[in-house]
Amino acid sequence: MLELQDLDDLLAARRQAARAVEARIAGSPELDAARARAAELGAEERTLEERVAAADRHAAALRARVKVIDRQLYGGSVRNPQDLLILQRELAEVRERLSEADDAELGLMEEGEAVAAAARDAAAAVAVIEGERSAAAGDERERLEALRAEISRLERDRAAVAGALPPAELALYTRLATRLHPAVARLQGDSCGGCHLPLAVREVRASRAGGELVQCSNCDRVVVR
Ligand SMILES: [Zn+2]
Repeated sequence: MLELQDLDDLLAARRQAARAVEARIAGSPELDAARARAAELGAEERTLEERVAAADRHAAALRARVKVIDRQLYGGSVRNPQDLLILQRELAEVRERLSEADDAELGLMEEGEAVAAAARDAAAAVAVIEGERSAAAGDERERLEALRAEISRLERDRAAVAGALPPAELALYTRLATRLHPAVARLQGDSCGGCHLPLAVREVRASRAGGELVQCSNCDRVVVR
């Protein structure tokens, strides 16, 4: 029964180790965060490119308008002084708006360059993490295979040990192991190794003799030599 418990402990540890390796192979929070950051910056970069293009179209339309007014003013087609005055005012106003539009476009372009640089850095960071992971992936897979082989071996051993136990003892162990750890405790002096309370003289003797199955009357554990 003690052997069965040792195998169960070893199996639980190896299964947990295998799960940890599987999780490392499946992904890493660090890589997920780096990818999310790169995607976010990429989206921001594209948004800024669209805004620069829109600002550029707006400035181009204003420049075209300046040309039209210039031609009207100095082409000789408008001669009325009142109309010329109106055109001059409009020209000044459109030039003012054009200057603002150019400044805005320049600002967006600078912002876009900064975001593009940050996006390149973020993409490089993702590549570095991916490179490290693919270098380690072979080792991780080897470790996982070794763990799985060991788990299979332990499962076979466990089945053999469990099969050799009398059915009543196996049932008792199974029942105890669901709520007590360990379910099987060593005798420590005259006490139960599980709950550390002293056993009755008869229980101590029986446990030392080893012939019959002794349970601690306090905690229910099976107590062995
Ligand atoms: Zn006990």
